[in-house]
Amino acid sequence: MSKNIEHMEFQTEVKKMLDIVIHSLYTDAEIFLRELISNGTDAMEKARYMQVSGDADLSGLPLEIHITTDKEKNTLTIQDAGIGMSRDELIQNLGTIAHSGAKSFIEKLKEHDSKDVNLIGQFGVGFYSAFMVADKVELFTKSITDAPGVYWESEGAGTYEIAEDDSLERGTKIILHLKSSDAEFAEPDRLKEIIKQYSSFVSFPVLVEGDKVNTVEALWLKNKKEITDEEYQEFYKFVGDDYQEPLITYHFSVDAPMAIHSILYVPKENMELRGFGQIEAGVRLYSKRVMIQEVNDSLLPKWLRFLKGVVDSPEIPLNISRETMQDSVLMKKIGKVLTGRFLKYLADLSKKDPDAYLEFYRKFGVYLKEGLASDGDNKDKLIKLLRFESSKEEAGKLISVDEYLVRQEGAEDAGTEIYYMSGASREAIEKSPYLEIFRKKDQEVLYTFDGLDDYVLSMSGEYKGKSFVSAETADLSYEDESEGLSEEQSTELADWLKETLGDKVSDVKASKRLLDSPVLVKSSMGMSSNLEKWLTMMDASPGTMPRMLEFNPHHPLLVSLYQHKDEEEKSVLLAKQLFDNAMLAAGLPVDFPELVDRINRLMEETFR
Ligand code: ADP
Repeated sequence: MSKNIEHMEFQTEVKKMLDIVIHSLYTDAEIFLRELISNGTDAMEKARYMQVSGDADLSGLPLEIHITTDKEKNTLTIQDAGIGMSRDELIQNLGTIAHSGAKSFIEKLKEHDSKDVNLIGQFGVGFYSAFMVADKVELFTKSITDAPGVYWESEGAGTYEIAEDDSLERGTKIILHLKSSDAEFAEPDRLKEIIKQYSSFVSFPVLVEGDKVNTVEALWLKNKKEITDEEYQEFYKFVGDDYQEPLITYHFSVDAPMAIHSILYVPKENMELRGFGQIEAGVRLYSKRVMIQEVNDSLLPKWLRFLKGVVDSPEIPLNISRETMQDSVLMKKIGKVLTGRFLKYLADLSKKDPDAYLEFYRKFGVYLKEGLASDGDNKDKLIKLLRFESSKEEAGKLISVDEYLVRQEGAEDAGTEIYYMSGASREAIEKSPYLEIFRKKDQEVLYTFDGLDDYVLSMSGEYKGKSFVSAETADLSYEDESEGLSEEQSTELADWLKETLGDKVSDVKASKRLLDSPVLVKSSMGMSSNLEKWLTMMDASPGTMPRMLEFNPHHPLLVSLYQHKDEEEKSVLLAKQLFDNAMLAAGLPVDFPELVDRINRLMEETFR
């Protein structure tokens, strides 16, 4: 080991990571074993794949993980016969952090929640967990290629050493010099216990001091009736790199249009919602039990990236190259079957167990919307799965678009469209002037509190022959018989308002939809204000876009305004204030200093 030892420094991110691992993580330290076994397994999956595709010859060394301990030296050794690493790969893989999620993981860990160490494997930094229990790690590795073998050693404190070493035939051997406080990990029985808990589904034999600890089997090929709930859960923890149980487990096999065996899982938590950045595709691809690829971005549509699990199809040729896989017709075909089955599963679940479905929807519904916005293929199926609050339900209760349509058909003065209204809260929506006409007509409106919905719904076209229409832009009207301005007076007032408000408005007209409110604004682009906000996100000042102003000709304020419009100063103040009030009711920006100044002046008038 003496020849050409080089001292190297870890990348800053790795240093930070190690610092946290060494100094602030104490709980669940045993997960380091799962991470190292999982790395060894991945390396052997890759080796097996190279063999079956004819790129490597693995004869001689069996694909097994060997774990041995030395109580006296207080060491633990884990050895695999995988693809190993060349010197460059080693520096790249264990000296830097490439994974984009890792940074946010480090940030999160720093913030507080030390329990989340369990998630370490999901962020491509699992190897470093070894430093939770070891104050020195030695690693020997020999690549499956011709590259010379390498030795690596680190105490985790910012630097590592690297040298040439040819003691291995193939694969990787890691020696952990355990901290004195972690001597339990030099006990074979303790190790067996941990492996049974975390790694029983590893697809290669794991031996502790020569004893095989796990049962190697492809759970997805077994008969459902022979699989226990615990097995499904344990398997999930293994493939999903998670410590919690899954929210949904869906195991199925199909023969047509092609043979597929799959277990799909939905995790308990939506990690993206918890601020961890975009998650990676998580359904592993197998062909006849051989793992072809752990992460395949082209298998499922992007919006299904939250799914974990496996899919095995004997129709995937083992010698398929990774490049052709990216855009292969076969991947699309498998992806289509999985997507179709999963959507069907959700539709069934929503009927059989609505509460379970709602739990899924509250956590993962956002992906269905993403799917709707991005994927025309499954539009109707996705719309069917959406849930909304409604003007005809109590707060918090969610209904489907189908329920909405059934009720609309039964209603007397039924509208011809699916009406929705988005806003910051239920209260904000219900207090807005836009809902007045719907209450008057007893027409149900779906409520959305997610800014994305407006965009998704307006883009989703027709569903069962009806379009989604924002309550803001809906073309509903009624004849108000009460006293108010005549048509002529209204036109006169509209002209005056238009002139007074200038470029703030694109048009002004008497409204046929207002009951209690004096005015409302509409986007001049014929869309809801929220959608307009979305689309003009790039524009620094969306509030300055001219708007349509509708006024209520039966409202006393407007009647007075008409009568006093020649009293220049007061009437102009009032007109501008009315406009700003309408903007505020729509959740649109106004010029606050100007508004406050104006209100003060109007208040002065009160006691004149
Ligand atoms: P992850 O395994 O999640 O990518 P790790 O920090 O555990 O993150 O490992 C980083 C990389 O180092 C792996 O992606 C792999 O390329 C390489 N690596 C780790 N352990 C082994 C091993 N036993 N054999 C071969 N390569 C390995």
